[in-house]
Amino acid sequence: MQLPADGHVHTEFSWDADHGAMDATCARAVALGLPVVAFTEHVDFTPFRAGFLVSNFPHLVTDGILHAPPLDVAGYLDSIDRCRFAYPELQILTGLEIGQPHLHPAEVAALLSAGTFDRVIGSLHCLPDGETMAEPWELFPHHPPAEVFRAYLAELPA
Ligand SMILES: [Zn+2]
Repeated sequence: MQLPADGHVHTEFSWDADHGAMDATCARAVALGLPVVAFTEHVDFTPFRAGFLVSNFPHLVTDGILHAPPLDVAGYLDSIDRCRFAYPELQILTGLEIGQPHLHPAEVAALLSAGTFDRVIGSLHCLPDGETMAEPWELFPHHPPAEVFRAYLAELPA
């Protein structure tokens, strides 16, 4: 039986997955018999309330707001090239997972022109909450769940 592709994988190039390992992921994919992996690294242009993430990423947080660093596009694409050479039996797709792309059209356009990305995921990770943006886990303690879900689903088409 042919296994499906894993089309949504993060590596050490995702700002929040610094313990990831693209090479080791490829080795594991080959061992499992996966035909395809897509490395869809996190890119988040929206500063958002850090909440408990401050303990994992204190260097990214100022006044309670987390500012994700930019993707190292050149380093990422170099690593992709090395893995494609090392694991020719594995189809390796490039990719991005961009948080709130609709709020950052100029930054997204610049990023997309910086390389070839086979799979680009647009994600909605944050919603406005007062003067700041926050992820749902940061909203649920302060808002009724139905209100959070309604706001999230209302923003998705944008
Ligand atoms: Zn993801």
